[in-house]
Amino acid sequence: MLEDLERIVRDPKRISTSAAVRQRHSQDLTSYHAEHLPDVVIYPKDKEELREIITYANQTGCPIVPFGLGTSVEGQVVPVQGGISLDFTHMNRILEIRADDFAVRVEPGVTRMQLNQELKKYGLFFPIDPGVDATLGGMAATNASGCSAVRYGMTRDQILGMEAVLADGSWIRTGSLAKKSSAGYHLTHLLAGSEGTLAIFTELTLRVYGLPDTFLYATAVFPDLQKACKAANQMLYRSIQPGKLELVDEYTLQAINAYKQTKYEEKPTLFLELSGWKSSVTAEWERVKEIIRDEGACGWSHTFDETIGDQLWDARRHAALAIAASAPDKKLMTTDVCVPLSVLPEAVSFAREVMQAENLQGAILGHIGDGNYHAVFPIDRSLPEEVAKAEKVNKRIVRFALERGGTCTGEHGIGLGKKQYLTEEHGDAVLWMKKIKEVFDPNHILNPGKIF
Ligand SMILES: Cc1cc2nc3c(=O)[nH]c(=O)nc-3n(C[C@H](O)[C@H](O)[C@H](O)COP(=O)(O)OP(=O)(O)OC[C@H]3O[C@@H](n4cnc5c(N)ncnc54)[C@H](O)[C@@H]3O)c2cc1C
Repeated sequence: MLEDLERIVRDPKRISTSAAVRQRHSQDLTSYHAEHLPDVVIYPKDKEELREIITYANQTGCPIVPFGLGTSVEGQVVPVQGGISLDFTHMNRILEIRADDFAVRVEPGVTRMQLNQELKKYGLFFPIDPGVDATLGGMAATNASGCSAVRYGMTRDQILGMEAVLADGSWIRTGSLAKKSSAGYHLTHLLAGSEGTLAIFTELTLRVYGLPDTFLYATAVFPDLQKACKAANQMLYRSIQPGKLELVDEYTLQAINAYKQTKYEEKPTLFLELSGWKSSVTAEWERVKEIIRDEGACGWSHTFDETIGDQLWDARRHAALAIAASAPDKKLMTTDVCVPLSVLPEAVSFAREVMQAENLQGAILGHIGDGNYHAVFPIDRSLPEEVAKAEKVNKRIVRFALERGGTCTGEHGIGLGKKQYLTEEHGDAVLWMKKIKEVFDPNHILNPGKIF
């Protein structure tokens, strides 16, 4: 098979069986999921080559696992059945910027930071920010969101259309350049979030936005997590439209202070960004201050200074890496439930109680403007009892969310780690998901072993 694949790829630099390269593609960056080596790593150069590789894989039953930057956290990129890891490093061209249409066309290996660097020249930006840099193909496949979703939604909401190669090597185009459409089934939204199990994206058409005139960056410190959550809820209730609205607990801030040499007060804190015209941002901040005061904040500060604001968001973005660095020999298990906003204060308190009851060290942080929060536990994968304890806590947090109308994953996806909750969340609808999988990929070559 290797010889056959070498005949298709015809460039020894873009096909590798070296131990180091296979190792890099055997796991994601930070998570606790066990690694598994692919047999070969291929870096396709364009969609024609990709079609040939996929057609060949389909004929021979060879598994294919797409790989962006490997930052997903539920084992999505682990080639559990071996086969080909398809790395999109070489398909990283920004194909077209249509500033007047607020749209761009990109290859899937373009990263969000690469895109934003280019968009800046046009006074535009792509808002989705999952903290780390990630490819747009990977973000589309996990339906990533992060800090800005409270204002702009998820990656899925930004995709106007896509081109994709299907398991049999055929090629489809979905969506259009139009902002709205009611034409037929929404295949774009079906393929977004499909974690490489239905199709391989070769091009994405994405929505972009005008850069706001002014940014205000703020923090508000609270005596406990519940009060912080209630304040966030009140802001949304009173029509504040934050660009970002994040919660970090005292453990997260301890990790950040140690990792970034910062001096944040180590108490539950809201990180907030307001953006727009200066007069409206200033007025919004006055209203935010009233709310946080009423909800019992014990301190707050704000700035318009971009450098200080960048430092603030840099600290927030690096929170998960800071938690990882606080236990360098361990890997992270990260819960990712999303609950109805009214349930959030109770859900966050419940997570803390369960962790304490099980004597499990962990931090709580999240995108609380969406009702989405993470409990993050560094665990030693070689200690089965430690893994079992973390899994028990994870399960209780998920159950709590599901029983109250929430979801087991707000943004990380199912991958390997959340498979056990899919039926609990969706019931018989999972049978229809499986039928869809059969239609798209009857030979189960696309990222096998994930989601179901
Ligand atoms: C420290 C840290 C913090 C994070 N914080 C957040 C957060 O706040 N919010 C959030 O949403 N996520 C967060 N994440 C997760 C993460 O960044 C994303 O899931 C990311 O979107 C994956 O992008 P990637 O390029 O790394 O893709 P990969 O991890 O390489 O791949 C992800 C999935 O996409 C598939 N895929 C890749 N390319 C294609 C393609 N061309 N066609 C079809 N499928 C493809 C893969 O098979 C896989 O299933 C965090 C991760 C880390 C490490």
